[in-house]
Amino acid sequence: MSLFDDHFAAKNAASARAWAMDEEKKKRDKREPLPPKMGVCDKCHREALVRPYRSRQADKMDGATSFGTVTRLLCEECAPKSRRERDAEVPQLSNKQVKNLMRSAKKGLL
Ligand SMILES: [Zn+2]
Repeated sequence: MSLFDDHFAAKNAASARAWAMDEEKKKRDKREPLPPKMGVCDKCHREALVRPYRSRQADKMDGATSFGTVTRLLCEECAPKSRRERDAEVPQLSNKQVKNLMRSAKKGLL
């Protein structure tokens, strides 16, 4: 019986340590995004599961640009993509860039 008790005590101590570590982790992870909750997306204004996202925003006031951090509730669709996903994306060319590209291509052909 004492063997069982020792085992139980060891297991208990281990889980107590694990719990303490979890608590420490929770404290450190406080700034991580919160789990999604029902709300209205700030971008598409649909009711969906949203998460608060902090983003940098530049405001132009009286000719001076000030940078601030705003928190927006965004649904999964509108949520900013992770850096890895962004890197995998093919850069989208603007109309102007496409025109410039076409022009230089034509110049090269002529
Ligand atoms: Zn949205």
